Amino acid sequence: MRTFPEYISDLFGGIKSLLTGLSVTWKELWTKKVTQQYPENRSTLVISDRFRAELVMPHDENNEHACTACGICQMNCPNGTIQVIPKMVETEDGKKKKLLDRYVYDLGMCTFCNLCVLTCPSDAIKFTNQFENATFTRGKLVQQLNKEGSQLRAKKPAAPKTQIQTPPKEA
Ligand code: SF4
Ligand code: SF4
Repeated sequence: MRTFPEYISDLFGGIKSLLTGLSVTWKELWTKKVTQQYPENRSTLVISDRFRAELVMPHDENNEHACTACGICQMNCPNGTIQVIPKMVETEDGKKKKLLDRYVYDLGMCTFCNLCVLTCPSDAIKFTNQFENATFTRGKLVQQLNKEGSQLRAKKPAAPKTQIQTPPKEA
């Protein structure tokens, strides 16, 4: 059985412990906050340019992209996130040409490894840092990256090669 002095000692010990805890709470109440409140901080939120949030296919003002439907990104994707669906068209000179019909990307499957971007020979795809991609169903994470009615950008004609002038031999 506890003696009266021990009881008083425990009582004051408990009060001291309570006051120590409250002093920490009081101090933290007045220190500068470091926790960010999302989405309230949307206007000031800084996301690094390097952050990989979503794969996109840039289109220019003529609704043209650079994807040749070669399928290299699809082959290099480790988990089947990309589906390149080509179509065959006939050119003016009667030749068959493979063009992109649909470029399907499943954001829900992507591991953001960047292999597709690094291996694309046409620089046709890239990652953006737009991270607000939450949806209510997984199906909505499957997107077509080539826009409706878009087409392959025509290659610019190669610049003429400059001739290297060799100096005439001395007699
Ligand atoms: S980032 Fe990686 S996982 Fe995502 S689509 Fe590209 S290759 Fe596939
Ligand atoms: S995005 Fe690049 S690698 Fe993928 S199919 Fe198009 S051109 Fe080929």
